Amino acid sequence: MLTIHTDTKIHKMSKDNPPVATAKSGDTVCFETLDCFGCQLKSEDQLLGGLDWSNINPATGPLFVEGAEPGDVLKVEILKIELDKQGVMVDGPGSGVTGVAVTSESTKILPVSDGMVKFNEKLSFPICPMIGVIGTAPADEGVDTGTPGPHGGNMDCTRIGEGATLYLPVNVEGALLAMGDLHALMGDGEVEVCGVEIAGAVTVRVTVLKNCALPTPFLVNKEVAMAIFSAESLDDAAVGATMSMHSFLMKELHMNEHEAGMLLSVVGNLRICQIVDPEKTCRMELPLSIMETYGYQFA
Ligand code: CA
Ligand code: CA
Repeated sequence: MLTIHTDTKIHKMSKDNPPVATAKSGDTVCFETLDCFGCQLKSEDQLLGGLDWSNINPATGPLFVEGAEPGDVLKVEILKIELDKQGVMVDGPGSGVTGVAVTSESTKILPVSDGMVKFNEKLSFPICPMIGVIGTAPADEGVDTGTPGPHGGNMDCTRIGEGATLYLPVNVEGALLAMGDLHALMGDGEVEVCGVEIAGAVTVRVTVLKNCALPTPFLVNKEVAMAIFSAESLDDAAVGATMSMHSFLMKELHMNEHEAGMLLSVVGNLRICQIVDPEKTCRMELPLSIMETYGYQFA
């Protein structure tokens, strides 16, 4: 299996990044990833203020997928996420939502073992590994790896985990897929500004889909399908995710606008992915059983 190492890291999703590896449609590829701090924080006496900011949010790649052309969709099946043995969190004045309540910086090292992450002496939780940053290159100007958008990027969606399938737009030849910013565990919202940030490795299968009308980014797991949308405000992200799913229901399930809206209002769950990045991200989730009832199958 092709493995892409962390020395290929990029800090911008851009058509100008030279591909570091090439895969055929249907190939399985492993991306080794640094944590979102570029693995600079090894102990609790290293603080946010001491970070080299040029090394923040590294993504591994980009991978060139043969046959991927603008207008196609890149299907990324997340087969496996392996994690390092410890994660890290930081905070400081002004960071995230809760940064208003702190007057100093703090770093927490969180051991990860046997499928559990230790938060403190009293609290341990089962891990739920996810990918914070995953995307393709935008058509025009590059986008910083810390920012989400129509190309994917720093979406920080807790559902982008093992067993899920992510559909991303192909904007440039080869798609130029890159990823990083794994979390051992994160709550919806990522309110303090980070999850349990951790290095690791992600194994994916990449497939080029021609003539695929899915709104992107789009994610499917064993229970739900969801449209993901990022915008400058949480309000706009919420509207975008909702209308993206509304358009999916009309185009793919052939519902009329009334039926689609009513269905979303009855069983659609509008959720916050994150409210701490330069653009905010929401998702609209619908049970997969609806697609099954309508005989719709995801490519
Ligand atoms: Ca992130
Ligand atoms: Ca992160």
